[in-house]
Amino acid sequence: MTEMFYDDDADLSLIQGKKVAVIGYGSQGHAHALNLRDSGVDVRIGLAEGSSSKAKAESEGLRVLSVADAVAEADLVMILTPDQVQRTVYAESIEKNLKPGNALFFAHGFNIRFGYIEAPEGVDVAMVAPKGPGHTVRREFEAGRGVPALIAVEKDASGKARELALAYAKGLGATRAGVIETTFTEETETDLFGEQAVLCGGVSQLVQYGFETLTEAGYKPEIAYFEVLHELKLIVDLMVEGGINKQRWSVSDTAEYGDYVSGPRVIDPHVKENMKEVLADIQNGNFAKRFIDDQDNGRTEFLELRAKGEGHPIEKTGRELRQLFSWLKANDDFTEGSVAR
Ligand code: NDP
Ligand code: MG
Ligand code: MG
Repeated sequence: MTEMFYDDDADLSLIQGKKVAVIGYGSQGHAHALNLRDSGVDVRIGLAEGSSSKAKAESEGLRVLSVADAVAEADLVMILTPDQVQRTVYAESIEKNLKPGNALFFAHGFNIRFGYIEAPEGVDVAMVAPKGPGHTVRREFEAGRGVPALIAVEKDASGKARELALAYAKGLGATRAGVIETTFTEETETDLFGEQAVLCGGVSQLVQYGFETLTEAGYKPEIAYFEVLHELKLIVDLMVEGGINKQRWSVSDTAEYGDYVSGPRVIDPHVKENMKEVLADIQNGNFAKRFIDDQDNGRTEFLELRAKGEGHPIEKTGRELRQLFSWLKANDDFTEGSVAR
């Protein structure tokens, strides 16, 4: 069993003694800034000129500066802009304002792992990556609980980077739940693999194929939606509570037997070979390069794929059905604080 770190393993005073700049005030940014502030840390926010997040941060009583000014007065800089803009923000406004003895923090290892950001000599580089969406990180903290997190140290210039990362995780509330140490490489590669092969890519494609197979065979789309999408949540809740075993214990014997005999027919060994190719493209940097090149190129491929996904018939069926479920209505709202995000 890997070691877990809790409140008693971290010294909050290490982060309380630092001036922290949180760059970006989105999903993670608002949660880090507010949780740290409530933990007694001196926080300022760095945002671009004319940022739409500025008013939100100021309404919480936070000081908002330009990215350059926030970095210049800080000891610790946490970069929480979207991954694809981090290297530009870093090159334009962060790098020249970092001084020896400062610390540069991330919530995901993408830009360090793939070499888009290289910190100067004398600067600690570390990660505190909550394993949950930003809005949950804030909500759990306010409820007196926390979301687990990973920490990692890439460069330990001060000899104290690990203690500092643990202190930051404590300020976030993460050591209330448990913190595991990893490396930038392990966090980045496993995170990308999980979302591509299983959580986002794998599951989305599985659901779409299931829906297509049923509707092409002449079954009603509404029934197909219930069977391949809506019930997924009930199954996943059981898996999270007690593993795949609990799911199999809870469903009927018919469903359990069908799981054993048909699961490996649908997801056959060839799928594992495909997964290995996906992992190889993550490890060799091909995925990162394709993503960043497209982002630099006006996001042509990204926007095309998004439009194609939104146009899938299951989305129309789902939208219409959810209108009829009073208990689910709020979830078609993808704005701040909605359950869906
Ligand atoms: P968001 O997309 O929510 O971040 C948006 C914020 O970044 C906004 O405040 C936005 O300002 C600001 N921003 C965008 N571009 C710039 C820029 N050029 N200069 C300054 N600020 C800018 O990001 P996330 O919170 O999703 O992700 C942040 C980091 O956290 C990433 O590394 C991600 O991988 C990691 N992470 C995210 C998780 C999540 O829950 N989403 C989970 C774990 C890790 P404006 O309002 O002006 O657009
Ligand atoms: Mg991820
Ligand atoms: Mg059924």
